[in-house]
Amino acid sequence: MHEISLCESLLDIIGDCAKRDGFTRVRRIVLEIGPFAGVEISALRFAFDAVSKRTLAEGAVLEIHESQGQAWCFECSQTVPIQDRLETCPLCGGGCLQPSQGMEMKIKELEVI
Ligand SMILES: [Zn+2]
Repeated sequence: MHEISLCESLLDIIGDCAKRDGFTRVRRIVLEIGPFAGVEISALRFAFDAVSKRTLAEGAVLEIHESQGQAWCFECSQTVPIQDRLETCPLCGGGCLQPSQGMEMKIKELEVI
């Protein structure tokens, strides 16, 4: 399950922050995930609970915000907001869209003790 490795790299990043900033526990993690990141949010929560056990993030609240997706429309040459890869262009109805934003997953906030 690819959410497990995502959580492992998330915990690696948090571990590096902990070393740098000198904290030992994480209380809350706010993630921003784009609609095209390919992340199943319920699977991510499940994986996080499993992977964070006995780490500094054990018991932390995982808050997930879904960001807006954007795509480039080849037909009207505009950047348009979309929430689904299969959507058509909201401006011209064209079906040839190239997602340009919404593939990312990032840590927005980390509340530490
Ligand atoms: Zn268009």
